[in-house]
Amino acid sequence: MKSALNYQFKIVELYTEYMNMYGDTGNSLVLKKRFEMYGLKARVVRHDVGDKLPTNADIVVAGGGQDSSQYKVHADLLNNAEALRKMAADGVPMLTICGMYQLFGKYFETSAGDTLEGISVFDVHTIGKDERLIGNMITQSERFGRLIGYENHSGQTFLGEGVAPLAQKVVLGAGNNALDTTEGCITRNAIGTYLHGPLLPKNPAIADFLIRKAVARKVGYEVCLTAEKVRQLDETARAARKFITKR
Ligand code: GLN
Repeated sequence: MKSALNYQFKIVELYTEYMNMYGDTGNSLVLKKRFEMYGLKARVVRHDVGDKLPTNADIVVAGGGQDSSQYKVHADLLNNAEALRKMAADGVPMLTICGMYQLFGKYFETSAGDTLEGISVFDVHTIGKDERLIGNMITQSERFGRLIGYENHSGQTFLGEGVAPLAQKVVLGAGNNALDTTEGCITRNAIGTYLHGPLLPKNPAIADFLIRKAVARKVGYEVCLTAEKVRQLDETARAARKFITKR
């Protein structure tokens, strides 16, 4: 059985320069730190427009951004569409937030009437509306429990037939759209969500999912943290979630 201990996991962060609304690149920092808390090594590798995409990524992370930022990364993203689809199909864990969630879908029709083709990692489509969906969000996921964050988007995302939402119920806020009660989506090990924040400091269950899938894909077994370690690790997250939920 291979050991994960002497391998350095690669977290590839897409378009840090343009897609980093509400500190979403903090998600990569949380993953790196949490890998280390598992006793494993990890590094964050940025992929910006024009760079060669590292296709041996162990985890792919991408943040949100305004429409104008999405235009700036769009051509480069399409150039890497096939590689990213292959990685997703191969089980590479991915976390895409808001604007990049939209572009990982089939298309994003902006509120200005332009249509940005997506890379179809997710079978979803997004329609921009004049109304912006903004504010704190609390959702309930059957798989990950209560998820907490902040949303700010004009795009309303609709899931294709049989696509699993990340969260089945939005308790506070809008989520994917103003019509159904879903938020985000999950396809194999790839997650799309409107939860900014960044997401991972307040939602360790998602960080653990991404790490465990990355390790299992690399060495064939899932690692886990002892209950005591989780208690120690997530005290801060628990306090933040309690504060936000109360507020
Ligand atoms: N520009 C997109 C929208 O307004 C995404 C915004 C974001 O990433 N927060 O829907």
